[in-house]
Amino acid sequence: MLNQSEAAHVVLVEDEESLMTVNLWWVKEIGWKNIHGVYSVAELMEYLASSLRQGRPVDLILMDIVMPEMNGIEGTQLVRAQEAFSDTPIIMLTSMTDQDILESAFQAGANDYVIKPFNEIELRARMRSALRLKQETDRRKEREKDLLKLSQALIARQIHAEESLFQDTLTGIYNRRAFDKKLQDEWISCYIAQKPLALIMLDVDHFKQCNDQFGHLAGDECLKLIARALPGPETGFFSARYGGEEFVVIVPGESLQGVEQQAEAIRYQIESSQPDDQRIKLTASLGVASLMPGDYPDSSSLIAAADEALYRAKSAGRNCVSR
Ligand code: GH3
Ligand code: MG
Ligand code: MG
Ligand code: MG
Repeated sequence: MLNQSEAAHVVLVEDEESLMTVNLWWVKEIGWKNIHGVYSVAELMEYLASSLRQGRPVDLILMDIVMPEMNGIEGTQLVRAQEAFSDTPIIMLTSMTDQDILESAFQAGANDYVIKPFNEIELRARMRSALRLKQETDRRKEREKDLLKLSQALIARQIHAEESLFQDTLTGIYNRRAFDKKLQDEWISCYIAQKPLALIMLDVDHFKQCNDQFGHLAGDECLKLIARALPGPETGFFSARYGGEEFVVIVPGESLQGVEQQAEAIRYQIESSQPDDQRIKLTASLGVASLMPGDYPDSSSLIAAADEALYRAKSAGRNCVSR
């Protein structure tokens, strides 16, 4: 504790020259060597700021109450008003006659007081306990900062985890889980709005053969190309990988004819975007459906209808769109 006393940076605010000399001597005598005297609140504020700038902030303020211009209570308010010094301990130095204004000193933010002339043991004890309180506050604030950082990191990780829950790892687009949820939401929205809900179901043609002939890595590249050919979120459509080499696009409010055109654009896009391996001829078959949700029990009717249409596209010779 003695070491801490010697190291602590103390400032004494005292307007009277003779008291300044005596009190500085006293405080040094009881072990606080790093003490600096200032004669007014204005000088104190300047000293606090420059100490902070120089990286050796003041640890404790001993503040006289009765001073010309600005008294110790106003001075305390001024110190507390600054964020950087809101916890710097302030001990008021009072004479017996100042007792009645002690309450306003505490209201202004003073931590403690000692009565002049000082009793050596009392002054040392009060200075030590004020410093200890400050150290505890600092430690608590540091812990709170750490906790805040930790909880922010946890939130970020949770957001990431939630996002990856809905993301297909191979293609980066939405996965089946995201699709199921979105389809349910759109089904209800279109039901309320009394609008049709359209769905495109896409299946890569002869994909097993592509894997067998050119390898699964080349196959994976094809799936990424397909994902890129699907409309992105900016279009208001919702594209996802349904599973394996099957993809889906939800098109809210679209008629059967409209969604057929959308599907044809996708089919053409796939046919035109060929993989690195020129031998691969990448095509897909697409089935489309558009239903009024009010006319059906639930959204699985839409999936079944698009699936049947896809089957018809396959039967019709593949690389085409069927309704
Ligand atoms: P069809 O034109 O009738 O759709 O024939 P197909 O060969 O595409 O259909 P099939 O269902 O027989 O084969 C689908 C293939 O898709 C088999 C499977 O190995 C492959 N596949 C599924 N998921 C992946 C994947 O993530 N990567 C790769 N490379 N292949 C996959
Ligand atoms: Mg005075
Ligand atoms: Mg398939
Ligand atoms: Mg297939």
